Amino acid sequence: MPSQIATHRRQAFERQAGRCFYCQVRMWLTSPTELPVHSSHPAQYRALQCTAEHLQARSDGGSDRAENIVAACYYCNSTRHKRKRPPEPETYLVLVESRVDRGAWHPKRVFELGLLPTKGGRSLPAGNNRGRDKNRTTGRQLRT
Ligand SMILES: [Zn+2]
Repeated sequence: MPSQIATHRRQAFERQAGRCFYCQVRMWLTSPTELPVHSSHPAQYRALQCTAEHLQARSDGGSDRAENIVAACYYCNSTRHKRKRPPEPETYLVLVESRVDRGAWHPKRVFELGLLPTKGGRSLPAGNNRGRDKNRTTGRQLRT
């Protein structure tokens, strides 16, 4: 019988369309062969295994409830918790995103295989208008 954590992990995996909460890499749940790449060394993809990530670490009193759990790749999860004080999820997310943008997170082959969104090619939800905002102060001149 799958543990509760395993259930939450699977649900989070599906909710996130199989992508890591932090780095957006394509993850696998039960076998690396789920990845859309062919490798003679599936063990290389250990880092891309889907893990249950506690937003609030268990050591900080975080619960095993669904709302505290997201799906993160093994690499992001273990790197975060390797630190003496795991950074807040928001802080860590920003850090991971900037590393991914620089191609300095997963090994190069992960980028080459298209398992990570490329810069500018992220599938962001609609409404991302960053940089496209027009300055709308004109046409409203005040008279003195
Ligand atoms: Zn990740």
